[in-house]
Amino acid sequence: MQKDFFEKLKQKTIIFDGAMGTMLMEAGQASTKSPILLNAEQPDLITDIHKRYYEAGADVVISNTFGGNPLKLAADGLEQQMELLNRQGVMLVRQSCPDGKFVAGDIGPCGKMLKPFGEISLEEMQQNFRSQAMVLIDAGVDLVIIETMYALEEALAAVRGVRQAGDILLLASMTFTRTKNGFFTMMGEDIARCATSLAEAGADMIGANCTLNSKDSIGLTEELRASTRKPILIQPNAGKPVTRKGVTYYEQTAAEFARDAAKIQAAGADMIGGCCGTTPEFIRALIAEINDLTV
Ligand SMILES: [Zn+2]
Repeated sequence: MQKDFFEKLKQKTIIFDGAMGTMLMEAGQASTKSPILLNAEQPDLITDIHKRYYEAGADVVISNTFGGNPLKLAADGLEQQMELLNRQGVMLVRQSCPDGKFVAGDIGPCGKMLKPFGEISLEEMQQNFRSQAMVLIDAGVDLVIIETMYALEEALAAVRGVRQAGDILLLASMTFTRTKNGFFTMMGEDIARCATSLAEAGADMIGANCTLNSKDSIGLTEELRASTRKPILIQPNAGKPVTRKGVTYYEQTAAEFARDAAKIQAAGADMIGGCCGTTPEFIRALIAEINDLTV
């Protein structure tokens, strides 16, 4: 599968899906505290969202297991369901996945701070990432994506945990903010340091997702491209959320996002998808824009 994925990377820009949370909001599930529970409670809704992304043209769809770390689940009293919810999450993407396309198992932050600021050790953190990864790999994902990581230390614990869990294609994606001095994680780490450390720890591919809109992600892509030879994935947000008359929407339109996506591709991204606020409409628009340029 690893070979198939790299083969496809040589041929084209690989397209990832857009947001899950935004689609759940549209489906009236905004108040759901633990969206991962929907894998068991509303499997048809989750399957439908996955299918819509594949139909929009996504090559890779990410499982609804962002909150599937045992530490995160324990905060909501769901630790007993760790295996079931992660396994079910992978199954729902797998059964929506057409031939020749891919299923990514999603790993998000564990929601805990490391000692001395928090109460858990690096070793404990790594073990929890390993536990989730073992279920995702056993359930049959084609690749694992660690995403929306705000701290390099946690991202590295996740990469090492996944590496311990098994032999799987692994993408690690950090979240950066833009400051007047450049792009940094919330913990102050720069792009080059993140890209180098993640690759050294065993990530096959490096990414950046969330927080930044598509316009700011163009400069970010240039800097990430200059920092690593690994394939890179960029998944911007559709701008910032705005709530008006009780309805939340995102600032950017699909057309605007798509025009920037073409520039992100030109800046060296091998893979592009969307984070918060993006929908199948965004994925469809970005594919049309990218194809226009490459024909
Ligand atoms: Zn996001």
